Order: sequence, then C-alpha cells, then structure tokens
Amino acid sequence: MAFEGLSERLQTAFRNLRGKGKISEADLRSTMREVRLALLDADVNFAVVRKFVKQVEEQANGENVLEGLNPGQQIIKIVDEQLTEMMGGATTELTTAPKIPTIVMMAGLQGAGKTTTVGKLARKLKQEKQARPLLIAADVYRPAAIEQLQQVGAQIDVPVFAEGTDVDPVQIAIDGVKAAQANHNDYVFIDTAGRLQIDDSLMDELKKIKAAVHPTDTLLVVDAMTGQNAVQTAEGFNDALDITGVILTKLDGDTRGGAALSIKAVTGKPILYTGQGEKLADLDVFHPDRMASRILGMGDVLSLVEKTQQTIDEKKARQLNEKIKENSFDFDDFVDQLEQLQRMGSIKDLIGMIPGMANNPALKNVDMDPHELDKIKAIIYSMTNQERENPDLLNPSRRRRIARGSAQPIQTVNRLIKQFNEMKKMMNQVSNGNMGGMEQMMNA
Ligand code: GDP
Repeated sequence: MAFEGLSERLQTAFRNLRGKGKISEADLRSTMREVRLALLDADVNFAVVRKFVKQVEEQANGENVLEGLNPGQQIIKIVDEQLTEMMGGATTELTTAPKIPTIVMMAGLQGAGKTTTVGKLARKLKQEKQARPLLIAADVYRPAAIEQLQQVGAQIDVPVFAEGTDVDPVQIAIDGVKAAQANHNDYVFIDTAGRLQIDDSLMDELKKIKAAVHPTDTLLVVDAMTGQNAVQTAEGFNDALDITGVILTKLDGDTRGGAALSIKAVTGKPILYTGQGEKLADLDVFHPDRMASRILGMGDVLSLVEKTQQTIDEKKARQLNEKIKENSFDFDDFVDQLEQLQRMGSIKDLIGMIPGMANNPALKNVDMDPHELDKIKAIIYSMTNQERENPDLLNPSRRRRIARGSAQPIQTVNRLIKQFNEMKKMMNQVSNGNMGGMEQMMNA
C-alpha cells in the first residue's frame, strides 16, 4: 500500500504525544524532527517538507496548543489539516463544459499509463453519469498506440476515432472533436503521444493541439512509482502546457507516496484521480482529506463504504442472506463472494481504510495472492453443478477427479472443502445468533 512506511513512522512519532496532559516545546520539536525525517524518507520534496514542518510548528505555537487541553490530539489535528492542504485541500473534479462535448486532453510520458487511464476515465463516466464518450487516437508515432486505444475502447464499448498514422495529430484532434459534435458525444478524450523524456518537439505538438481544440481540461498522467521524477515531469509539462490537473497512476506499486504528497505543493496543480492497478476499474477519485486520514492511521471509512456500494449487488446480498439462513450456501455462492472481494481491490488496501487497523501488526502481511484465487476458482469450476450445490457429495473419488481436472494437488482440494465447510458452519451459527463459532474461528 502507498504511504505504508510513512504512516507507520508518523504514528510512532505521535505515540509519544498521545494522552500526555502537558507537552513541552522540546517534545514538540523532537516529534516534528521525526515527522520531517519520515516525510523525507517518503521521498517528499525537500522544500515542501520544510514548509510543512514550519507551518505545523507556527500553528501549534500560535494557537497556544501546548497550554491547551489535549495538546497531543490537537497537534495531530493540525498535522492532518496541513497534510490535507499539502495534497490540495478540497477534492478536484473533472470540469464539465457548458456545452457538449467536454474535451479532455491527456498528456504524459510514454509508459505513464495514458492510454489505460483514458479507458478508466471513460468507463467511470459511462458507469456513473451514463456518459457517451469518444476516444481520439492522436498518437501517430507508435502504430501500436492506436490499436491499444481501440482495444481499450472495445473493452468498455466506447467508440474510438482514428485516422491512421499519416495524418497530423493536430488535424486528428480537430476532426475527432467535430465527429463528437456530430454524434452528440458528451465527453472527448484525446490520447496524445508520449516520449521517454520531455522534449521540445513533443511540447510543441501538444501546445498546437491544445490551441486548436481548447480542451476543457488538460490532464497530465504521471507514474507515482517514479517519485520525485514524477514531480519534475509535472513541473515541466505544467510550464509548457499549463495543465489543469494530474492523474497519478501506479499508486498501487508506490510504497513511499512522495509524488502524491508533493505534486500539488510544487506545481500548484491538483491531483484528480489515482490509478490503483492495471484493470480498467482501478481508478479512484483523489480526496486529499481522506488520504491524510489514512496516512495518519485514522482510516477512511467513507471510501470503504463507497467501494462496497459500488461493488456489492444489493439484490445478491439479500439472496445470500436468505441462503445462509436456510443453510444452503453452496460453492457457487462461495465463488461469487470471492469475486466480489476481488473487485473491491487488494485486502491490504481495504484494511488500510478501517480506522485503527492500518498498522495492526497482526494484519501486516494479510493479502490474497490473485493466483490463489485463480486456483480456488479452478477447483470449484472442476466440480459438477450438483457437487457445487451439494458439497456433501464430494467423496474421495470425486475429490481425486476434481484435483486432476483443476491440476491441483488433492491436499489443496481437501483443504478448500474443509475451509468451505467451516465457513458454512460459522455462517450458520452467526445467523442463528450464536457467536461462539465466530470466536472460535478468531482464536484458532
Ligand atoms: P502510455 O504509454 O502512457 O499510454 O501507457 P499505457 O497506458 O500503455 O500503460 C503502461 C503500463 O502501465 C501498462 O502495462 C499498464 O497496464 C500499466 N498501468 C497503467 N496504469 C496503471 C496503474 O494504475 N497501476 C498499475 N499497476 N499499472 C498501470
């Protein structure tokens, strides 16, 4: 999870303050020294860290926090507010043009995740606003780029406007916007070319496209895993293009979080979204306040609730409840549950959103390997319909057949069936109001 190290270090730094009736100036200074080091280790820009620490200290002194009630809690509150501010304060949304189409120009270095992100955004708008987006393929330098965008479009059933590689990208953008107007598409995403590094000819082309189509938003896609390079890239693009905001990709692979913490403070431009994985569903709105709470180990219940609402099908949830009550929970329901969990993202991320759980040492290495899940599914899909519905049928010879069919050792098959039976027993006990089973499981 992003910010893992930072989160742990900050919470350790604040542990010394919590619950203290009185905090001396020296206490505050030593805590802030720890905070400073933690931020620097998280790869936050040096100047940003200095400004941050200064502001927290000034505010703490100005408000006479040290003399007040609960000084430790108040300092944590100030840090929370300043962290939120550092990441941009309020949540920034995509601008909607007064007249359709809203034009979003996407820029970024090669490999940052531009094409994938175009697909993620179009999918999101389609799902949440019933939008009818059009994607414009304006990267003519890599023939595969057009094809890649077409594949993304096909996956989410969104049209792609392309004119091959022989037409000038500025013209493609103009023609694409015209096509969107003619077809009443309400959003247009222009996928522009990237390079390995910022260069003048790329910037010139992007400036020309921008001047020709007047995008509603110009969004820069940067790779969080490149840390301070991402911040420099954002500065470079912003100087040349005056971007409106940033989408930070690959936050799932960034353990430090330096780019997320510094981009707004260095460039003045907010982060709108973060990419959290390779799948087209892996895009989150960036909420600086929720992110700050997560970093400080205070959880992010709002995001957890939203994620659950987006993924859990209420009708199915009710049906499941019925099945548990009737004690007819079967392997088909089991796969359904696993898939819903999988859609919600990594277990580690989910745990990070629960207040007080983020840094629980017992949960440190909890995660589900996606391959494990595939193995479980392979085993279940090797069962016949009757076996899935009535697991009592699974005698040793059937189990051997399933092991062969799913190419898994018999032990793995046996273990899964055992776990399934235990889970079923537990569900039954819980639904009958007997929590003893649950406690036994927890203590096992
Ligand atoms: P482009 O050159 O900027 O258009 O980049 P692509 O969209 O082709 O993405 C480059 C690689 O990054 C691909 O393998 C994507 O699957 C991957 N990628 C994009 N966004 C994310 C993300 O948020 N998380 C992870 N883990 N991978 C991503």
